[in-house]
Amino acid sequence: MGSGDYLTCSSNIVVNKDLSATVTLELCKVCYKSMLTVTSDPREWIENVTHNRARKAGDIIYKHEIDRHLENGTTPPNPTKGNLILEYEIPVVVEPSTDSVYDDPVATELQAEKEKTQQLEVRLSLLESTLASLIS
Ligand SMILES: [Zn+2]
Repeated sequence: MGSGDYLTCSSNIVVNKDLSATVTLELCKVCYKSMLTVTSDPREWIENVTHNRARKAGDIIYKHEIDRHLENGTTPPNPTKGNLILEYEIPVVVEPSTDSVYDDPVATELQAEKEKTQQLEVRLSLLESTLASLIS
């Protein structure tokens, strides 16, 4: 239990011209078999994880942008949720983990979400390795 050294998945991401991105994830045999004990459709499971995480981040950005536009009286012509998220400017992080980053409420919430995600990833890999040891 513990280390996931024997897991050898590989992945790649390409940002497309329209600023969407194509992610390819090659599951190693152990991960694929393990994932099949979690779900009959690992591809759908992975897509759902991404959607849920992106939706949470998008909700935070949307709320931030609505508040900002209301405060400044700058509501754009077509303020759909998707458009507001696309127009949001991600704060530039000059040095990671500096105090200035945490002054931005969105950055603070995103940082909190990132930490939660990291904790969940640790728990997930723990579960994966436990599962893998049970089926081997
Ligand atoms: Zn793997």
